[in-house]
Amino acid sequence: MFNSLSDRLQGTFDKLRGKGRLTEDDINVAMREIRLALLEADVNFKVVKRFVASCKERCMTSEVLDSLTPSQNVVRIVLEELTELLGGTESKLTMAQNRTPNVIMLVGLQGSGKTTACVKLAYLLRKQGRNPLLAACDVYRPAAADQLETLGKEIGVPVFRGDGQHPVQIAKDSVQEAVDKLCDVVIVDTAGRLQIDEFMMQEAVDIKSAVRPDQVLMVVDAMTGQDIVNVVTEFAERTDFDGVIMSKLDGDARGGGALSVREVTGKPIKFVSMGEKPSSLEVFHPDRMARRILGMGDMYGIIDAAQEMADEEQARKAEKMLMQGLTMDDMLDQLQSIRKMGGLGKIISMLPGGDKLLGETPEAADEKQLVRIEAMIRSMTQEERDKPKIINGMRRQRIARGSGHTVQEVNALIKQWDEMNKMMGKMRSMMNSGNMNPKQM
Ligand code: GDP
Repeated sequence: MFNSLSDRLQGTFDKLRGKGRLTEDDINVAMREIRLALLEADVNFKVVKRFVASCKERCMTSEVLDSLTPSQNVVRIVLEELTELLGGTESKLTMAQNRTPNVIMLVGLQGSGKTTACVKLAYLLRKQGRNPLLAACDVYRPAAADQLETLGKEIGVPVFRGDGQHPVQIAKDSVQEAVDKLCDVVIVDTAGRLQIDEFMMQEAVDIKSAVRPDQVLMVVDAMTGQDIVNVVTEFAERTDFDGVIMSKLDGDARGGGALSVREVTGKPIKFVSMGEKPSSLEVFHPDRMARRILGMGDMYGIIDAAQEMADEEQARKAEKMLMQGLTMDDMLDQLQSIRKMGGLGKIISMLPGGDKLLGETPEAADEKQLVRIEAMIRSMTQEERDKPKIINGMRRQRIARGSGHTVQEVNALIKQWDEMNKMMGKMRSMMNSGNMNPKQM
């Protein structure tokens, strides 16, 4: 996700960090690079123009240029602007408190990931203590109702099908079914088409007026790039909706859609989906996403992931890592668990530079890269793995020889560990002091 954009932005910041003072020319060059990186990531050009103008205006002040740490200030400004571009703060799912059941309706094009998103949302809501019912109102796509039923069964959530009925009637009946079954929220899956079509829009409007959903969410495929904006705008005009579920962010989406949609359509991203499993839907946090794009790591994400670990052994390891710091063995352990797609693997992708270290997303981690890192760590003594700080020049040469790598590669690995470990250290001291403000990191 966002890998190439992330690399390019981080490259720009690395160049700035290499300079002590910054001139207006330096800022101009950096802003040009940011502009190109965003355009290449398929961000809408108007959005890019406004974004870069705003960053530039804030960077070209004497406060930034004459400060003791100008490059840090530039990074901070880009981080703030990026967070703002992604929506600023989390946009919560709002549902009437005095209504049972609440109704959430999902709309979107066929193939966007709508049916699976219904299931993922049900899974997430159940984790929050709700009791959902899924309503199969996509009666046109062959097997959509079967798919919903199979997935619903997998996560233990009931599915209302109403076979043979009109979708509006199924939606209405599903609300009654929820009352009978003591479910407190209905998630309505609606029909999708390959392209926007009048019939589909009208049906969505009809279902909406029949069941008056608390929230209508539009599912959009992140791979669509900035074309998302056109689709979202049309849906917004016809059916109107409250927010976006951005699906398939785990793929090699360049990020253009996710970065353009809020500003161009005014609709917030509420959830992102990062995989096919029912557990792969996450609440969207603009600040966390911005930090990940800029390679700063996602501290809250790590804490959430550690807390959610079902496997006791993994949860214990995650806690040890947070409390005692990261050893080379921990790093190896995480990389190995990525191979097995285990929970710990998720953590490394949220550490600073973690995505880069993996080469790709956790799901598609570059096997060769993992083998290389593993060989280097295995050439270290136990003492070196526990306390990588003791690895001096001589030892680095020995590790390089022993693992068949260059000293530069060993240096890069140790630097990577150092950055990750520093973040763990900051998290630890903030957790200990009870002050968990990621803005200070
Ligand atoms: P619908 O036609 O909009 O209902 O789409 P589906 O929910 O059937 O999804 C279409 C395909 O996309 C299925 O194969 C899903 O497994 C896949 N899919 C959905 N969301 C994601 C996601 O976040 N990541 C990945 N990798 N695949 C997804």
